[in-house]
Amino acid sequence: MPVIAYIGLGSNVGDREGNVRRAAAFLAGAGRVAGLSSLYATEPVGNREQPGFINAVAAVETSLDPGELLAVCRSIERELGRERTVRWGPRTIDLDILLYGDRTVSTDELTIPHPLMAGRRFVLEPLAELAPGAVHPVLRRTVVELLRELQDPHAVVRLGTAGTTP
Ligand code: ADP
Ligand code: MG
Repeated sequence: MPVIAYIGLGSNVGDREGNVRRAAAFLAGAGRVAGLSSLYATEPVGNREQPGFINAVAAVETSLDPGELLAVCRSIERELGRERTVRWGPRTIDLDILLYGDRTVSTDELTIPHPLMAGRRFVLEPLAELAPGAVHPVLRRTVVELLRELQDPHAVVRLGTAGTTP
């Protein structure tokens, strides 16, 4: 049975908006892209001495297992020319698996739900557009509840109805 996975997309190098849109289109390689949130201009978290990001979240209906989905995400990152440099540093494109249905995954390569998603406004705001009622299977809170409880001061500005909702 296919599951709905939510993928966080981010770029802060080059044609940021184009990188996010192209990455979302490439997710068709993992299944049916069921939705793309608006794009958001967001303040960098962690290493602040870097350009601002464009972030979005995509919903993909996929029959791939989590490891296969990660492989697709990594190949999209390669395709769009991401060069791995410093952690939390500038990147052409970053794809993170936020949720994979209601499943949890914990391996050396993969942690799902993404361990930092619940504390990040740049993840929760776009995710709430697509899946306000989706339940975080570890915290047992919906996305809207997580957003209500969130204390993340980093600015997140929605750039209009750039995406499509399911
Ligand atoms: P970050 O996104 O934390 O800035 P990277 O994008 O460089 O860092 O990710 C490095 C590795 O994180 C990936 O190659 C992958 O093995 C691992 N990883 C663990 N959990 C996840 C997840 N939920 N989604 C994507 N990558 C993950
Ligand atoms: Mg990543």
